[in-house]
Amino acid sequence: MQTHQFDAIIVGAGGAGLMAALYASKGGANVAVVSKLYPTRSHTGTAQGGIGAALGNHEPDNPLWHAYDTVKGGDYLADQNAAKVLAENAIDAVIELEHMGLPFDRTPEGRISQRRFGGHTSNFGEKPVRRACHAADRTGHMILQTLYQQCIKNEVKFFDEYHVVDVLMNNGACVGVVAVQLGTGELHVFHGKATLFATGGWGKIWQVTSNAHSLTGDGAAITFRRGVPLQDMEFFQFHPTGIYKMGILITEGVRGEGGVLLNRHGERFMEKYAPRIKDLASRDVVSRAIYLEIRDGNGIQGKDYVYLDVRPETVNRYLAEAGETRRVTGEEIEKKLPDILDFCRVYLGVDPVKEPMPIQPTAHYAMGGIPTNVDAEVVIDENWTVLPGMYAAGECACVSCHGANRLGTNSLVDLVVFGRRGGMKIAEYVKHADLIPLPANPTAEIEAEFKRIRSSKGKSKPGELRGIMQKVMMDYVGVFREGAGIQQAIDTVQELRERYQTDLSLDDQGYKFNTDLIETWELGCLLDLAQVTAKSALARTESRGAHSREDFKERDDQNWLVHTLAFSKLAGPYQPGALHLDLNTNKKVDLSLAETDPRFAPKERVY
Ligand SMILES: Cc1cc2nc3c(=O)[nH]c(=O)nc-3n(C[C@H](O)[C@H](O)[C@H](O)COP(=O)(O)OP(=O)(O)OC[C@H]3O[C@@H](n4cnc5c(N)ncnc54)[C@H](O)[C@@H]3O)c2cc1C
Repeated sequence: MQTHQFDAIIVGAGGAGLMAALYASKGGANVAVVSKLYPTRSHTGTAQGGIGAALGNHEPDNPLWHAYDTVKGGDYLADQNAAKVLAENAIDAVIELEHMGLPFDRTPEGRISQRRFGGHTSNFGEKPVRRACHAADRTGHMILQTLYQQCIKNEVKFFDEYHVVDVLMNNGACVGVVAVQLGTGELHVFHGKATLFATGGWGKIWQVTSNAHSLTGDGAAITFRRGVPLQDMEFFQFHPTGIYKMGILITEGVRGEGGVLLNRHGERFMEKYAPRIKDLASRDVVSRAIYLEIRDGNGIQGKDYVYLDVRPETVNRYLAEAGETRRVTGEEIEKKLPDILDFCRVYLGVDPVKEPMPIQPTAHYAMGGIPTNVDAEVVIDENWTVLPGMYAAGECACVSCHGANRLGTNSLVDLVVFGRRGGMKIAEYVKHADLIPLPANPTAEIEAEFKRIRSSKGKSKPGELRGIMQKVMMDYVGVFREGAGIQQAIDTVQELRERYQTDLSLDDQGYKFNTDLIETWELGCLLDLAQVTAKSALARTESRGAHSREDFKERDDQNWLVHTLAFSKLAGPYQPGALHLDLNTNKKVDLSLAETDPRFAPKERVY
């Protein structure tokens, strides 16, 4: 076992991790980034559509309108102060990225070009506004490359392909992490004053997802096992437009450019569900509309998909109908959405300039996660008690600026805004904080767990368990949910967790690049998070944002304008092999009312 010592340890090298690392190092901290992927392979690199900021480069815009849209899009569960911080800091953050060299698309005058996106409006919901700053449909790729270069310039130390598997606590503080070096199978201890988790989401819980294979929720699972609660886990966003059966994302930017959703009768059905804002309603609304169309037999050929149509003739017909003077050409579509066109041509043999694309909703984004305040400090209860030394930012964290449903382009904003705030806070903290010693035998527990997995001789293949979990979560804890179905998912996942503990079967017992072993360990994280998600979904007896209960159809502001915190009963030392990672009853926490702006008061959402 090797031990490394740094002021700050950043787990994850996506947009949030790199931004935090950059700012912690700029503030004078000695920083290590530990990442299971090579940094530029992080999921941030796949973000297509854009990053929202009220720059007003095409038409008037205002950060307050951006904050309002964020709160409304989040079905009023977002913390209003966090939404305001997000929207206000977005402007600075985007201009800073530009100055770091990010090649944004430009307006003819040379300003950053902006496009429309779902739920972004001007003047408190009046009409759609162009707020999404973009670099073609490769915005995330450009952000990731830009930040990685800046980190290298600032001499951040990278530990690539080191898989973090446990978090270390001592004296009520976080003192570092344990990681497996993938190339050797060796354990490494990273000891520091501050540790920031930026490990991304957990879409792999579901069968159809836009998420990469690596998105298994490791950071959220390991902190939960050590007693940190998880906030608002019932809210997981289904993006309306994934490629049929494959789940690969087709950016909302397609609809931003004028693309429309059509059912088997060629009807633009969003006119029924969101008469004003139509195809650009927020994602929860559009995903539900697609499901309802499919349920009514209006899917294409009666199957479970609909069409997304961005052919110039279709787009221009609807633009003319709306009285707009703008028209699009095939060439423009090629230029603005090159990767999307490529995906469809390569994976589907469909050319979107000539044919409509077959799409269905795809599991996309975790609104919930590790609870933090607006400085990315992890908080562990309803009194906002900060856990010293532990930070989280990006998709694995819950600030909560997205509430019950995130608006498109707001995740990239979240990464750079709260990653930066976290990095700055860490730089300040490590100047004064003492280095708390490591606990005795820091690797003993996780070593025992790995030994158990490596030598297991049961009958259950991890891939089989994963498949069952993904199907049951898709069927019962997906776009629509209902009590008995959720309970069935909970029971099935519990059974899978027991098989995971007692009946695993592994092919590879080796040490070097043992992906069989690592994927099995990741499956353990997914199973824990699936259980927390399902239990949180059962607890919330209302419909809000991405959480839509068929047995409780209404939003219930009287009882449920609150966050939920899920606690592990273990809440203490990690017990390898423990079967009882059950939740206490979810706690309702009234964090959302920390600040209330009368202009943002809950209303019925009308689109
Ligand atoms: C296809 C797609 C398109 C999207 N498009 C947009 C968009 O246009 N606009 C927008 O705002 N949002 C978009 N999103 C959402 C957004 O991209 C993500 O929410 C965001 O990039 C997450 O960033 P992150 O820094 O939190 O984590 P990620 O970028 O997912 O990075 C996670 C990092 O954690 C590391 N890691 C994970 N587990 C471990 C471990 N156990 N040990 C060590 N390291 C670990 C990984 O190596 C990786 O470096 C999109 C998402 C997808 C999937």
